[in-house]
Amino acid sequence: MSMYTTENRVRTEVMQDVAILIDLGIKGVEDNKYTIKINNRLYRVLGRCSKPNNVEKRYTIELSGKFATNASDQSVRNTIMHEVIHSAPGCMNHGKTWQSICNLVMSKYKEFNLSRVSHYDEYSKALAKTAPYEVICANCHTSSKFMRKTKTIDYCLRGRAKCGKCGSKMLDIYYKGTIIKQGGK
Ligand SMILES: [Zn+2]
Ligand SMILES: [Zn+2]
Repeated sequence: MSMYTTENRVRTEVMQDVAILIDLGIKGVEDNKYTIKINNRLYRVLGRCSKPNNVEKRYTIELSGKFATNASDQSVRNTIMHEVIHSAPGCMNHGKTWQSICNLVMSKYKEFNLSRVSHYDEYSKALAKTAPYEVICANCHTSSKFMRKTKTIDYCLRGRAKCGKCGSKMLDIYYKGTIIKQGGK
């Protein structure tokens, strides 16, 4: 469990990250205003930075509650920094400007790992803890995760389900990373 489970704690970290960006010479973040939300319905992303109503200098940074609860402190810090960098001018995407600030931060503050790969790795680890069931199509490798033993899981176990993408019935079912049913068998 990380220490970032309250919005106040996340806000403190956001302000520290803004101070780091200022220290590194990034212009245009010093008077940003942030709304912080821990969102328990955020499953597909670890965090999110958005601009409500496109108001100048105002940003909403959300953090997935499941992720904040299950991940390590440093993983959460990486995600918060990832989102704060989105609030720098011209950084609302993962383009060159955003990437170059990530690299600058990582070169001076070695504890941060802001590569997107690790970002999603950490996410799938956190998700595996919270969504124990996973169905993977043996034909097209489409993966879906489930929090509970839903009807879909039940159909899969009885060999009645089809892949939503390719229609194959060869669906492998995993529970907490261990295969419990092999597709087509
Ligand atoms: Zn991002
Ligand atoms: Zn498929």
